[in-house]
Amino acid sequence: MRPFILARHPTSNSIHESAGPMTDRPPIGLIRSVGHWAFVSVPDEEGLPCIVHYWHRRDLSPVLIARMLAHEIGHISDGGPKHWLGSEGEEDRADEFARVAAEVVGFLLTEGVLTVPRRSTMNRRSRAREKSLS
Ligand SMILES: [Zn+2]
Repeated sequence: MRPFILARHPTSNSIHESAGPMTDRPPIGLIRSVGHWAFVSVPDEEGLPCIVHYWHRRDLSPVLIARMLAHEIGHISDGGPKHWLGSEGEEDRADEFARVAAEVVGFLLTEGVLTVPRRSTMNRRSRAREKSLS
């Protein structure tokens, strides 16, 4: 696996702008409505770390966060992007990483090994939405 760092973006605008003119960059409205998005940037120079850029709503489920990050890390694993990038099975392989990570985090949450501090990580809008659903 190539070395990588995780870069959390504070807003959907921030990650959208960081992606620049990337061909498969979704429209900002879609990113906001889905509530999360990530991409990995791969430096041309050997030895420099890849950067996994990500943003998610503050109340997004840890299972979905794990799924999103594992998908991107899957892109730079096992031979790195020069091996996988653009290959036919690349997205399927990254999705397999995502499924495994989601299963593990879901299991740890179910077992109580991992816990999520509910209120402290939720913003006002999320609390209002949760209140209106109850
Ligand atoms: Zn992908």
